[in-house]
Parts: sequence; C-alpha cells; structure tokens
Amino acid sequence: MPNESATQEMTDGFHLVIDALKLNGIDTIYGLPGIPITDLTRMAQAEGIRVISFRHEQNAGNAAAIAGFLTQKPGICLTVSAPGFLNGLTALANATTNCFPMILISGSSEREIVDLQQGDYEEMDQLAIAKPLCKAAYRVLHAEDIGVGIARAIRSAVSGRPGGVYLDMPAKLFSQTMEAQAGKRSLIKVVDAAPRQIPAPDSVQRALTLLKDAKRPLILLGKGAAYAQADASIRALVEKSGIPYLPMSMAKGLLPDNHAQSASAARSYVLAEADVVLLVGARLNWLLSHGKGKTWGGDKAKDRKFIQIDIAPTEMDSNVAIAAPLVGDIGSCVSALVDGMGANWAKAPADWTSAVYERRDKNVVKMAETLSKNPPVMNFHSALAAIREIVKANPEAVLVNEGANTLDFTRSIVDMYQPRKRLDVGTWGIMGIGMGYAVAAAVVTGKPVIAIEGDSAFGFSGMEVETICRYKLPVCVIVFNNNGVYRGTDVNPSGGADVAPTVFVKGARYDVMMEAFGGVGVNATTPAELSKALKEAIASGKPTLINAVIDETAGTESGRITSLNPQTAAQKK
Ligand code: ADP
Repeated sequence: MPNESATQEMTDGFHLVIDALKLNGIDTIYGLPGIPITDLTRMAQAEGIRVISFRHEQNAGNAAAIAGFLTQKPGICLTVSAPGFLNGLTALANATTNCFPMILISGSSEREIVDLQQGDYEEMDQLAIAKPLCKAAYRVLHAEDIGVGIARAIRSAVSGRPGGVYLDMPAKLFSQTMEAQAGKRSLIKVVDAAPRQIPAPDSVQRALTLLKDAKRPLILLGKGAAYAQADASIRALVEKSGIPYLPMSMAKGLLPDNHAQSASAARSYVLAEADVVLLVGARLNWLLSHGKGKTWGGDKAKDRKFIQIDIAPTEMDSNVAIAAPLVGDIGSCVSALVDGMGANWAKAPADWTSAVYERRDKNVVKMAETLSKNPPVMNFHSALAAIREIVKANPEAVLVNEGANTLDFTRSIVDMYQPRKRLDVGTWGIMGIGMGYAVAAAVVTGKPVIAIEGDSAFGFSGMEVETICRYKLPVCVIVFNNNGVYRGTDVNPSGGADVAPTVFVKGARYDVMMEAFGGVGVNATTPAELSKALKEAIASGKPTLINAVIDETAGTESGRITSLNPQTAAQKK
C-alpha cells in the first residue's frame, strides 16, 4: 500500500504491476489467488481490472491463451508459486505451440533461499523450468524494473510469431516501495507491439508467378490467418483469384463454410490433386500429414509447389520444400498478393474448380442424407444435425469443441459463418481446454458460447462450471455422454471387478453438476430435447449444461487419429 505517513507519495510493487498492465490496455486477469498474489488480485479488482478467478490454474491459463488469440493482446494468467505455476505451465506451453500470445505471471519464493536450496515454502526455480517451454521468460527483482519487465513480456508475446511468455515475480517484489512519481516514470507504454512486417517485393512476385501458372491451385487457411484479423484481405484474395480454399479447423468461418469456393467437403481430393498450394498461416505439421505421403497424392507430391505465408522465416522448408516463401505478417502479405494480381487476373482454371465443386456437392448431399436420419438412440450425427441448425441461426455464438469423436464430427458437421468463432484443441490436439476457452470467449466477446464436449474431455476442466455460474456467463456446455473414452462398451479383459480403463460411470448426469451451482441442467435423450434446451440457453444467457445422451456404441477408437495408436500403427506396417 502507498505509505501515507511519508512526506512523499509512495507506490509499491503491487500497484506498479497493476499500473503497467493498465497502461498497456490490459483489462482482464485470469488466475487463481493464493500466496503471494492474493492481494494483487484484490488490488487489481479495486483498480478496475476484471479478475476472473478459476478453480484450477490450467483452466485460467487456457482462458488467457485463447483471450490472446481472440484479441491479439497477451492474455494474462496469474498464479501462485510452484504447484500453481506448474499447473499454469501446461497452458503456457500449449499457447506457445499454438502461437497464441499469453503471459503467465507467477509469484515465486525468494531467490536467496531457492538458489541455495534451503527449502523455502513452495521452493522452485520457476524461471529455469519455464524457459524451455515458452517463447521468452523474465524475472523482475526490483520494483523499478516492473515497467520494463511487463513491456518486454508484452512485446515478446505478440511480436513476430506470437507465443507464451513467463514472468517471474518473487514475493518480496510486491511489497517493495518507491516514490510514486519515479514509479510512474518507470512504466513503459509499448508502442507498436506487433509491427507490420512487409514482404519483400521479389518474394511477392515469385508467389504470383507460381499462382498464375497453376493448373490446380488451392488456398489453405490456418489459425494464423484467423489470428491476423485480416479478414477482408483474405476474402479478397480468395474471391479475386477464384481459387478453392480449405480452412483448417480454427480457420473455419474466416469465410462462411457455405461459401461458393469452399473445398472442405472435397478435402481428400484437393489435397491429393492440387499442383500449387498457398498456405496462409498454417503449418505443414502432423495436422496436414507433413505435406507429403498418401494424403498429398503420393507420387503426385513431386510436382507440387508450395507458397507459404508466415511471419516466422524458419517455418519455411520445415517439412517439405517451399518454392515461394512469403515472409511477413498475413495482412501485409495477402494485400500485396491482391494488389499484385492487378485488374485482369485470370481466375483459377474452370476445369479444376468445377471438378472440385462437383465432388464437394456430392459429398454435401451424402452428408445431408446421413444427418436427416433420426435413429432411435441419439448418436453423434443426429445430435449434431440439431446443433448445426442452431449455430447457423446464431452465427455470432462462439463454439468451443474438444473430445475425440465429438471433435471430429463437430468439425465436419457444424458449419461456421464468422471468423474466430471456432475454438478447439489446436496443434497438440489437447484435452482440457474446454471450460477455460469457454469462460474467456464469453468474457472477451460477450456473445453466447456453446461448448461441445466429449464426456472424457469435459472431465479435465469440468469443475469450472462453478466459475461459469459465479460470473453468470452465457455459456451452454453440451456433454456428449456415451459413457466413456471413445465409447462406453469396452470390457475388462481379465474378467475382474474393475471396469475397462476407457469406461466411465454409466448413465452419469453431468447436468446435475451445473444445477449444483445454480445453473440450468438438462438431460437430453433426443435431438428435439437437445435443440429445445440449446435454444433456451442462448435466449436466456443462463449458464446451462445439457447432458446429451449418446449411443454408447457410437464412436471409434481415438476418433480420426486411430492410426497414431502404437498398436494400430504397428499393424499397418
Ligand atoms: P493450423 O493449425 O490452423 O494449421 P498453425 O498454428 O499450424 O495453424 O499455423 C499458424 C501459423 O501462422 C504459424 O506458423 C504462425 O507463425 C503464423 N502466424 C501467426 N500469426 C501470424 C501473422 N500475424 N502473420 C503471419 N503469420 C502468422
């Protein structure tokens, strides 16, 4: 607290942290109070920062990460020392992997004791542990350095390829005092935190030449393109070039999924056949089969050329050769391409585009037939057929999605219509992001949030339904309950009393969890019941959990990534 007895007005570490964050436009902290940061959360709230308190730091961290993705400002996660820090670290590593800007600020024990390993309360060399798992890590020891520490953390998180930053604040820092005016002067308002990076003109030309000569071009949009908030330029590129495009999962909605040039329902065909592929903020990692092999047409791969737009120059050639690297920020690169096309750019060859759209339309009809079935026991398809109509009617709603089959089916069945409305398991295919993402999406956007959760995935962050109720957030959680991981029918091969490792309590009522905290719980066994409950949840904005009872025999092992299980992989060889 400022020392009122002194003649000079004083400030302290607590207030310098808060003032530095506010000075940089940070208005929300996601965290969990405890020693030594409890007072920081109280004072931050008193000073007008919104403090969202979670039940587990990993969920607070995930909330901060996705807030970063949605706003281009680093999401702040605040934790206690050692165990709290470690709980937040998973989210920090995940944010870095996904290129989301986030800052994990953790209180820590005193350096003198930690370094001599004398056994302090929650002793841990947190800075050393965080370093290899994030983009940058800093420690602030003196109150007068708080401004610099926070400025460096912000710049590191959002400039270039965004990522996670760790900021270590030993307990003693918070109570250090200094003269208030000097404290104010020590703070830094970061100017141009993520400077535009204009692509070199010859790189633009190289890319345009390849695009111009392409017979079967394809544009692939990744979540980097969604993050960049260059929505109008991206639409102009797609429409002016006439090239079919494929959105990666979190790029869905960048252009509406029912756009005339969407190739989503002809994914296998376009990946195997395209001769020139323009990657916009998407990496050729496992999610894109590393740009080679069967998915990419086997032998045909040798004639394929890639153009890649990315802010990270070292991303180029990471998996296959990139014929035309275009290094810069997506907004600048895409605008440069659109400008370079000029007024008379010839659209993508019609024989190619009509072949793509013909396949797509056939698959869309097939899917519609499947979705129109209403089997006696609700399954993924019939449940999602109901949900997809409600998402269509509420395009501003944010959809959070995790699970195995629940993820795969939702991604392919539920169309998105606006940018940055689909938030999911991302690059790691991680489970546990659900409630953290849902809370932050509601806090940041103020729009309805629909979280479609596998029953297993929900378990990782389910306790945060209390957080959702406490802050009265307009979140509707739908748990696809098929009694287990993947499905609920496995049996214990030994004949013993324990159920199989993948099986949960049969007939569990997740909806009652939400009721326990004053929210609305609904047990839905038919698409009609599910549809009614979801519509009501969106209309009322009340925290709701729908226990959607799904056929327990539905679902395949690991969803669409069965091939990654060691035994399945070995059998294939
Ligand atoms: P997806 O999983 O959807 O394919 P990735 O996370 O693999 O997407 O790829 C996102 C890519 O976007 C990263 O390589 C990252 O460097 C890049 N990126 C993120 N923001 C920008 C930006 N503003 N400008 C250019 N590239 C960006």
